[in-house]
Amino acid sequence: MAQEACSHIGAITSLKHPKRRECEECVKIDAQWVHLRTCQTCGATLCCDDSPNRHATKHAHTSGHPVIASAEAGERWLYCYPDDAFAEY
Ligand SMILES: [Zn+2]
Ligand SMILES: [Zn+2]
Ligand SMILES: [Zn+2]
Repeated sequence: MAQEACSHIGAITSLKHPKRRECEECVKIDAQWVHLRTCQTCGATLCCDDSPNRHATKHAHTSGHPVIASAEAGERWLYCYPDDAFAEY
């Protein structure tokens, strides 16, 4: 990582990319999403805080997985929930 925003982001050596460009949880409940984020602990791709269901944030809180990456084309950044830290790569 070019910038080490926190220890969680600093510990990431290889990025997890979305397997499918859809929110895993929204698909199950036939909901809409705005942007997608990929959990860097388990690789789940979930929706952002602009989306009605905010699955990425819910996942971070329930699972304790700290870091997400944007799954949007052209966006290259990571975000850590516990540290509220943001890093571009
Ligand atoms: Zn962190
Ligand atoms: Zn969702
Ligand atoms: Zn996860």
